[in-house]
Amino acid sequence: MLCCFCFTLSLQFSVLCLPCVCSPVSSRSMASKTPVGFIGLGNMGSPMAKNLLKHGYPVIATDVFPESCKELQDEGAQILDSPAEVADKADRIITMLPSSPNVIEVYTGPNGILKKVKKGTLLIDSSTIDPSVSKEMALAAEKMGAVFMDAPVSGGVGAASLAKLTFMVGGVEEEYTAAQELLTCMGANVVYCGQVGTGQAAKICNNMLLAIGMIGTAETMNLGIRLGLDPKLLAQILNMSSGRCWSSDSYNPVPGVMEGVPSGNNYQGGFGTTLMAKDLGLAQHTATNTKTPVPLGSLAHQIYRVMCARGYANKDFSSVFQFLREQEEEPEKKGD
Ligand code: NAD
Repeated sequence: MLCCFCFTLSLQFSVLCLPCVCSPVSSRSMASKTPVGFIGLGNMGSPMAKNLLKHGYPVIATDVFPESCKELQDEGAQILDSPAEVADKADRIITMLPSSPNVIEVYTGPNGILKKVKKGTLLIDSSTIDPSVSKEMALAAEKMGAVFMDAPVSGGVGAASLAKLTFMVGGVEEEYTAAQELLTCMGANVVYCGQVGTGQAAKICNNMLLAIGMIGTAETMNLGIRLGLDPKLLAQILNMSSGRCWSSDSYNPVPGVMEGVPSGNNYQGGFGTTLMAKDLGLAQHTATNTKTPVPLGSLAHQIYRVMCARGYANKDFSSVFQFLREQEEEPEKKGD
């Protein structure tokens, strides 16, 4: 049987499938509905794993919190006790974890994937983490004869439920087709970005711009309201003018301007301020390492960190509007 890489080549050049660069994965079940491992069944992971089930893939999953597993188990997934046990049973595994330390633990910890990983296993990490950690995990996986790819996502819980996520994929190009087969069950767009870590790079850049755009929209709306403008009218004008951006026209942070967004629901749901602060921290770290000036990204990072410390940690990141509204100016001191 041809491997997928040689199959693609054979269509174009009529080549035979000789032992090739793809040989480490030749034993892996390609394009078949064999079990897929899933680790991290939180806000995003749970609906993503459900979409794999909907597409007919048996799912073998685990999470540190047993209660996170209940719903998926009811839908037919097999639940195991540790990432190592999942690795023992599946040769394609997706991880969706909060941050870099969790990913390190799940891959290289005492009960981690790499303790039991089979040769040729495809490991896809969709968490948003430091690109340097993705590279470390790829090297560690390679030593065990497995393949690691980073595939962070854009789109929130709603997009995860509707299988409308965008995946930004980094890793060995020959493995992209194999990753794509699973990712298209969970997303509307799957984009190959380059070598391992580049998916994370794209994600971090997007979220830095998103944060800057959201803060800009929030302070603009706040200024306009204080100048006596109706917020809906101001949003309408911005959205037909050069100030328009995703935060102004699709996710407006001012309560009452739009329906179906977190600002209309006391900033519940959506994308948490803590996660945004984490992503901005990753952007800072990578900017420092590459000596790249990101003055607005730095400021956005500080603003979201302060918000986390002031009770906004679990609110949607558009709550920066409420945060700015609450910054009452100090009354002028007399006699200074
Ligand atoms: P979450 O905290 O809801 O879920 C993470 C899950 O991982 C939890 O259920 C947790 O118990 C589990 N976990 C942690 N450590 C574990 C371990 N050692 N072994 C097994 N399970 C473990 O987070 P989320 O909102 O699902 O986000 C996941 C990732 O996706 C984050 O990196 C986030 O930045 C990114 N992301 C989130 C959104 C969003 O809107 N929530 C959007 C895009 C990207």
